[in-house]
This record gives sequence, structure tokens and C-alpha cells, in this order.
Amino acid sequence: MSLIGQSVTVLGAGVAGLAVARALALRGAQVVVLEQADAIREVGAGLQISPNGAAVLRALGLGDALQAASTRALAVELRDGPSGDLVTRLDVSGAGGGYHFVHRADLIALLLAGAREAGVELRLLQKIASVDLGGARPRWQNAQGAAGETDLLIGADGLHSTLRAALTGKVAPFFTHQVAWRALIPETPGVENRAEVHMAPGRHLVSYPLRGGTLRNIVAVEERRAWVEEGWTIRDDSMDMKLAFEGFSPRVRGWLDQVEDVWLWGLFRHPVAKQWFAVQNQGAAVILGDAAHPTLPFLAQGACMALEDAWVLADCLATHDSMAAGLAAYQAARLPRCARIVAAANTNARLYHLSGPARGIAHLGLRLGSVVAPGAAIKRFDWLYKQDVTA
Ligand SMILES: Cc1cc2nc3c(=O)[nH]c(=O)nc-3n(C[C@H](O)[C@H](O)[C@H](O)COP(=O)(O)OP(=O)(O)OC[C@H]3O[C@@H](n4cnc5c(N)ncnc54)[C@H](O)[C@@H]3O)c2cc1C
Repeated sequence: MSLIGQSVTVLGAGVAGLAVARALALRGAQVVVLEQADAIREVGAGLQISPNGAAVLRALGLGDALQAASTRALAVELRDGPSGDLVTRLDVSGAGGGYHFVHRADLIALLLAGAREAGVELRLLQKIASVDLGGARPRWQNAQGAAGETDLLIGADGLHSTLRAALTGKVAPFFTHQVAWRALIPETPGVENRAEVHMAPGRHLVSYPLRGGTLRNIVAVEERRAWVEEGWTIRDDSMDMKLAFEGFSPRVRGWLDQVEDVWLWGLFRHPVAKQWFAVQNQGAAVILGDAAHPTLPFLAQGACMALEDAWVLADCLATHDSMAAGLAAYQAARLPRCARIVAAANTNARLYHLSGPARGIAHLGLRLGSVVAPGAAIKRFDWLYKQDVTA
């Protein structure tokens, strides 16, 4: 189906929204992105973009921009939290397409520049209050009461997606009894470009360098009974984070001593949406990214899945005869893969926090594995990292 001249409205200017906007605009669609914020700014935090996500950025013509904005990773190391000893090291230096560490703001900036260059129009201060899929075409209304219609309405509006609620009804997520802190600290250039996961019973901490090794990203997760809100902008006392990890190695404590500003959020499990699109008489609506499949951050794949979705959605629409067929093909291609990734992230949460004999056995197994069959550990992720949806 030709996308030339199709009117497309994207809700949300995050990773999914900006990537799909560029992908569709490059194929000739007239794309408008509606974003609730008054400016495009991102929280200070890092993202790992694995080869499957990097492949999409390259196919969108943003490979050089990614290269310039990111640090190419050499390895992901699992370490024992209290001693700091290496448990196993996954060599990602040879991962085709590269494994990258990038500041969220830098990824959003390159996607925004890419969207604008392709002719996408961005409108800020457009908080979408409701969508109506009952008429001939999808219709949206913003918080100020202004309304509009479009041929294709795309919900890239994240965790609390208005469009997902219209497609599937509201589903209450459940609190995992895990909370996460995030922080950035200064780093001395020259450190090895590796991600470190420091594990202990009931808690773990992930850290890696950003921006040419001038910053260090820290995400620290703790299991706790008390409920914590799900949100990116809740500040916490850095002392709480330091106390939670006081039994960790001097290396980790050294990082935490430098933390000044820290944010805390509760980790919730949301089901993957069962239905991702709706077709109307003269239009259609579809979701992608966190709107369709929010994930726990334990496999670092939320943004990568959003990039994959964006490419596959544009490709399916362009290569099928009708919007209905294109959207059905998109859901069929994406739902099983995203459900598998979300399930794998859920499992990682448990593995990182093992305690008692299970922990000793698991760590021994990983240590032996890396001696007996070095390279085998990373191969377990071939299904994830080696899938190139643009091939
Ligand atoms: C701690 C942490 C670490 C992570 N690390 C990684 C990682 O290393 N690698 C990785 O791939 N992923 C990672 N992720 C996941 C990743 O950040 C998300 O999956 C990804 O940002 C989702 O992108 P999105 O565009 O779907 O949603 P979002 O980034 O949430 O964007 C949604 C956009 O929609 C806008 N919006 C929302 N509601 C409305 C509305 N009603 N009207 C208008 N606009 C609206 C929002 O303002 C926002 O701009 C991590 C997540 C967390 C929490």
C-alpha cells in the first residue's frame, strides 16, 4: 500500500513515536506527532542499545548519528555484589551492528532531528485526553478540548497509553515489590566500556559509562514490601540508596558516595496487550513501544523493542495491499517476539536476586561455563541480539 500522502498522527514523542514518525515520513506519509510536554527533554539516564535496536537506527539512516552519540560497549559483566568478584563476562564487542551505551537525551535528540529532517511536524503541549475509534476515522481530543481526525492514529504514548486503553480497556498492573533508583555520576574518561551487573540476594545494581566515559549511569534495584509509585520523576534521598547497597564492594560504594541527585520508582508488571490495532471504515489505530508491551528493565530492551516495532509497522504497511492487512501482519510479527522478551526480562529479575544455595550453584555454573565454553553465554542471546528486523 502506498503511504504517500496518508495522514498519520502519532501520540507521543518518545523513542517509539519519533522512530515510527521518521520511518513513515520517509515512505511519503504526512506525519504529525502530538506530545504532551512543553519541550522535548529527557530524563538524565542511560540506555543500552543492543545490535537489534542499532540495526533499526542504521536502516533509518541514523547509524552515523548513533555512532557519534554513543559509546560502543565491549562487554557485560555479572559480578558478585559483596565481593565484586567476576561471575561471568559476556563479550559483546563483536556483536554485529554493535552494542551501544547512549544517554537518553542524546538518543531522543538524534531521533527528533531525523524525524524533522524527514518532514515530520511536532506539536508540543498536546496532552491527549481521549480517543474515539467508533466513527469512520480515528478521532482524538486534547486536554484543552481541541480535536482532530486522521487516517492512521498511532499510540506511542508509553506506559499509560490512552490509545491502548481504548483498544483493550484498562488493565491494572501489579507492583513487583521491586523499586529502582537511577543516578548519574561523573566518570573519568578511559574506563573500560562495559556494563557491570553487581548481584546480591534481593538487590542488584547495573552501571556503565556514558558520553565518552565522562558520565556513569547507575540503576539500582531493591526488593521491598512497601508500595512505591510508578513514575520517572520522583526524587529520593541518596542516603536510602547508599544504605541499601552498603554491603556491596568498595567499587560500588565508591560510586554511590558520589551520588547527589537520585530518582526512585516502583517497578510494575503490565501484561503485553492482546490486541494492538483496530480498523475502521476509513482509518485505523495501532499501538507500539511501551504502549503495547511495557517491560521490566532487566534485559535493557524496552527502547530496542520500540525501535523494532517502528520499523516493522512502517514496513508492513508499505508491503501489504491494505491497512488492515498491514496492521494484522505487524501484530503477528511483533507480538510473539515482544512477549518472549518481556518474559525473559521477568526471569532475569529473579536470577539476579537469588539467595541461599541456589545463588551459589547458579554463580558456580556461570563461572564454570565461562571457563569450559567461553562465548557460549552470549550465544544464549542470539535469538535476541541477532534478529535484524530490517534485513
Ligand atoms: C530504569 C530503566 C532503564 C531502562 N534501560 C533500557 C535500556 O538500557 N535499553 C532499552 O532498550 N530500554 C531500556 N528501558 C526501557 C525504555 O526506556 C522504554 O521501554 C522506552 O523508552 C519506551 O519508549 P516509548 O516511546 O514507547 O515510551 P516513552 O519513552 O514513555 O514515550 C512516551 C511519550 O508519550 C508522551 N505521552 C504520554 N502520554 C501522552 C498523552 N496522553 N498525550 C500526549 N503525549 C503523551 C510522553 O510524554 C512521552 O514523550 C529502560 C527503562 C527503565 C525504566
